[in-house]
Amino acid sequence: MTAQDTLDMAEFLGDGISAELSEAVHRIADALPLEVRFHPVDLSLERRRTDAEGSYQDAEKAIRQYTMALKYPTITEAESPNKVLRERFDFSVIHRPVASIPGVATKHTGKVDLHIVRIAVGGTYEDAGRRIGTEAAVSVRVIERRPSFEASRFAFDYAQKRGLSVVSASKYTIQRATDGLFEEVAEGVAAGYPDVPHRAELFDALLAKLIMEPEGYQVVVTPNEYGDFLSDAACGMIGSIGLGASASYSFDSDGNVTLAMFDPAGGTAPDIAGMGICNPTAAFFAFAMALEHGGFRGLGRALDQGVRDTIACGQTTGDLGGCLTTTEFTNAVLESTKRRLTGEEPKVS
Ligand code: ATP
Repeated sequence: MTAQDTLDMAEFLGDGISAELSEAVHRIADALPLEVRFHPVDLSLERRRTDAEGSYQDAEKAIRQYTMALKYPTITEAESPNKVLRERFDFSVIHRPVASIPGVATKHTGKVDLHIVRIAVGGTYEDAGRRIGTEAAVSVRVIERRPSFEASRFAFDYAQKRGLSVVSASKYTIQRATDGLFEEVAEGVAAGYPDVPHRAELFDALLAKLIMEPEGYQVVVTPNEYGDFLSDAACGMIGSIGLGASASYSFDSDGNVTLAMFDPAGGTAPDIAGMGICNPTAAFFAFAMALEHGGFRGLGRALDQGVRDTIACGQTTGDLGGCLTTTEFTNAVLESTKRRLTGEEPKVS
């Protein structure tokens, strides 16, 4: 290991299975040829009940110092920690990779390998709408230039670095003002990436084509609510909404990432907390994304593939039909990841 092979990241600890997920991630981190220095912040409900502001201040201090954080599931009681953090850190873009996991039962037979880049603000989700009398209601849908630029810039940058194509998707023929602005911004960003194939597609048509031919889509950038719908639809195609991770980003005025937070899909699973049987797959995917973002792309890819190899050969926790404990599954992932790192062929079932 060389002196520069270190990576600092804040670690936001939450509730339920959070501690077990963190322990599993640390086991993986300890075995990597890299010194990952986690800086823990307690965001558990217990702490937030007595000192919510203090816990969020600690989280803010840590993420601003280390520029990236791994967050585990938290209980929403008085407030949603995810919403609080998003607002405090000015997160405006969410990146949600969704890729088929061989070994996970699914009704869809195509191969999905999709990066959904979604504007995380506005759309109809900050709706200042109101009822008009008793028989009607009006909704306000906001699309802003800045987050449209940030999402597009992130999508094209990500695609360029990995040799992928970008589709921008919205209802620009119907929502001419709002989605028209989004597509105009995406088109402007695309002009700066002549080597990245780009096309605009109507969102409804994209959903149909994605289901019929998922191989045709790599990076999709889209406004807030469409990105939300697409994420769930794509997760349904791969047979699980709980096995993925997502990243939230904030940016400087040039569209460069300033803060990044990575978190596993899924909740706190209070019914199995403390039993040592939870599935850490989504937390490993989140950690793999954090490694890639931190400049250790090879390690992130190896971990991501190591998790997939492990599941593909039938080594799974109970929720996926297997019988491994969290620790046993983690050990299996470690072995598969090492194989990927040393270029050995993955084990097959
Ligand atoms: P929350 O309020 O935090 O969302 P919840 O129990 O309502 O908690 P989830 O945490 O998503 O919702 O749990 C739904 C079901 O999925 C539970 O039966 C839980 O045990 C299971 N589950 C969730 N995450 C995992 C995991 N990582 N490993 C195994 N099972 C899980």
